[in-house]
Amino acid sequence: MAFKLDNAPYNLEGPSVLFKDLGPGILGETNRSGTMTINSKLDPKFVEEVCEHEEVHVDQIRRGDLTYDDGNIYWKGKKFNKNLRMVREGKNTEWEKEAYAKSNTKHGETKYNV
Ligand SMILES: [Zn+2]
Repeated sequence: MAFKLDNAPYNLEGPSVLFKDLGPGILGETNRSGTMTINSKLDPKFVEEVCEHEEVHVDQIRRGDLTYDDGNIYWKGKKFNKNLRMVREGKNTEWEKEAYAKSNTKHGETKYNV
């Protein structure tokens, strides 16, 4: 029988974290299933704060405000093309503003060095 992620009980200890080389400049990604991927090149001392940032996106996905498909991101029902400059830069979008505000991360931070 197929396993339906939408109905899966969430892990109370927090989302599962995978490590993978995501390429230059990408610190982490949140997946629609509520897991997150952190760039394996990231210095371990920064992993916790990047996880905190991604956890905000996990929360946004769980409460239904944020989702995406191959070409678009949807925030509270509004569609944003992934190629839009504001989306690519991740600065002035509502979902990133919330993630920066609720975690110990800031946009344009250069210390991560990935
Ligand atoms: Zn983010």
